[in-house]
Amino acid sequence: MRKTIVAGNWKMNKTPKEAVELANSLKDKVNGGAADVVLCVPFVDLIPVLEAVKDTNIAVGAQNLHFEDSGAFTGEISAKMLTEIGVKYVIIGHSERRAYFAETDEIVNKKTLKAIAAGLTPIICVGETLTQREQGVTIELVRLQTKIALQGVSGGAAKSAVIAYEPIWAIGTGKTATNQEAQDVCAAIRQVVKEIYDAATAEAIRIQYGGSVNAGNAKDLFAMADIDGGLVGGASLKAEFEQIVNF
Ligand code: PEP
Repeated sequence: MRKTIVAGNWKMNKTPKEAVELANSLKDKVNGGAADVVLCVPFVDLIPVLEAVKDTNIAVGAQNLHFEDSGAFTGEISAKMLTEIGVKYVIIGHSERRAYFAETDEIVNKKTLKAIAAGLTPIICVGETLTQREQGVTIELVRLQTKIALQGVSGGAAKSAVIAYEPIWAIGTGKTATNQEAQDVCAAIRQVVKEIYDAATAEAIRIQYGGSVNAGNAKDLFAMADIDGGLVGGASLKAEFEQIVNF
């Protein structure tokens, strides 16, 4: 039985002071429920938010990392920098990073390998554009993204990884995939994991849906057979996040 996991992606929002206020306002309401809860916050907010949630079950995640350990990579953050302060999760290959920062499937794979080697749980994002959905290539595309992201990842590590299916046309648009559309793609992701590894790995890996999840649609989406929670952007910055976590 997979445990639901709900992660908030704060994106480039909240100064450290604002981040602590938001974490404090949420923590008693989202702590200790049925779902694993992760707050993926901007780099400068990681330490203050870790401090704010320290006596709770809420985990803290980063929104990116570099695949090298150290060196001349101005502006980047390494896996070790994250683990040393207590970060447990990292979002990899978010569509905004793919679109605005030229992240390719190969980079997503390198980052996934580095995150796993460091002991971080990757939340690997995959998903299609509206054009790709209209072209009927969603399943092929998402299968390919998943396969490349998991190249070289052991079955054991894949079991504890998280994949977030995020149709790009649904991110930040208020347009959500229907429960069945989301389920169909998440089932296809689970199927490809089964083909790469085995049935036990496919059963264990957690697959989230992301794309305009809100208090009104979370319960039905998370009830679908292959959807194990959500990656939540806009609504994770509001009190509404409590209702999503406690769906
Ligand atoms: C996201 O940023 O991953 C996301 C799904 O955003 P939103 O919930 O705002 O669509």
